[in-house]
Amino acid sequence: MTANPFEQAVPVLELIESAGFEAYFVGGSVRDHLLGREIADVDIATSALPEELKQIFSKTADVGIDHGTILVHHAGNHYEVTTFRAEADYSDFRRPDNVSFIRSLTEDLQRRDFTMNAMAMDKDGHIRDPFAGREAIKRREIVTVGNPDERFGEDALRMLRAVRFQSQLAFSIEKQTFASLAVHGHLLQNIAVERKLVEFEKLLAGPGRKEAIQLLVKSGIYQYLPGLDERDSQLISFSSHLTTDLKLEESWVLLLFELGLAQTEIEDFLRGWKLPLQRIKRYKHIHSLLLNRLDNQWTLDSIYKAGLEEAICAEKVAAMLRDKCFKPEKLVELYDMLPIKNRQELAVSGKDVMAWTKKQPGPWLREVLDNIERSVINGDVSNEKEKIKEWLNASNQK
Ligand code: ATP
Ligand code: MG
Repeated sequence: MTANPFEQAVPVLELIESAGFEAYFVGGSVRDHLLGREIADVDIATSALPEELKQIFSKTADVGIDHGTILVHHAGNHYEVTTFRAEADYSDFRRPDNVSFIRSLTEDLQRRDFTMNAMAMDKDGHIRDPFAGREAIKRREIVTVGNPDERFGEDALRMLRAVRFQSQLAFSIEKQTFASLAVHGHLLQNIAVERKLVEFEKLLAGPGRKEAIQLLVKSGIYQYLPGLDERDSQLISFSSHLTTDLKLEESWVLLLFELGLAQTEIEDFLRGWKLPLQRIKRYKHIHSLLLNRLDNQWTLDSIYKAGLEEAICAEKVAAMLRDKCFKPEKLVELYDMLPIKNRQELAVSGKDVMAWTKKQPGPWLREVLDNIERSVINGDVSNEKEKIKEWLNASNQK
């Protein structure tokens, strides 16, 4: 999307309106617009039913049609367009059992979580704000639409969303909303990990992340997040080192360290959060580099094995833990000194070694190649075929 995503989407509203329905921008985009923040996606709410929308637009996709959301393609962009709805009959604190489509904007806004997220904007930029969202934004406050006990009882994820918005927007949570959150945290037990993960990672990425982690502890919500029960003191320590310099993966590694998890426990912890295996492997690797870094300086050998990018992550987390300034330059310098960056760059292969020694392949070959690799890295021999051959002969005669 370009600089003004609303402007581009105005024709979508116009098309819906000219078919005789209402249509507005809603949710996060309106909030962010009023806050002067960059707008990610514009969401549209309408009185038209999904079937009616399909008659207006030629290109649509049923992304969440059960909940009244369809994806509309228009002029090279796509928009989530959701029919006004009321949500009734929440059972087991998750999602509404049935969605009833309605024709009233105000009712649709009423089902939304926080007043700052319960505003609509029409195509001319006029704001509909029946729950005083603008006031809340002015006070930089997160307030539920209506009674917080009821709203958190309907969908417990909203509690975690409150804390993630606190982090993302550096707002504070209104007193009554916070008091309710501290009482109903246990309802989060019913919420799918995948949904918690989305909010937790947004929380970790926000400018108010330190305070947000402290709030998770203060409210008791942390007890209902995977692997964090009874980890209050570790979380407080985590928050004290969690600077805004840290990228998402570095924050995870810092958390692993603060929790004092052994290598074997790390996998279980991250699986508990349902992280994909690839990320689990990477975080484990960086965590082991961090442990090594806390006791040792980098060497040519260790940085070669680590890889530059991973080494930089570990170095950064180590710097945060020691309250030191992070300086990657020395690491980069050391890495640049490496004669080879990976095994493929080695001037000799297993074939060469077999030809020289006239021996059949076997476990010995890997050992010899490892030895050559290490010696090249440490500068004992230069990475040239002939030099390596001489060096190998000489070391065999020893
Ligand atoms: P972000 O900028 O992070 O996307 P957002 O406010 O757009 O923030 P979304 O999760 O994209 O958040 O949800 C879009 C809108 O849908 C919200 O602004 C809110 O109005 C509504 N909403 C989302 N989740 C809930 C929920 N659990 N309960 C009530 N309303 C919700
Ligand atoms: Mg959004």
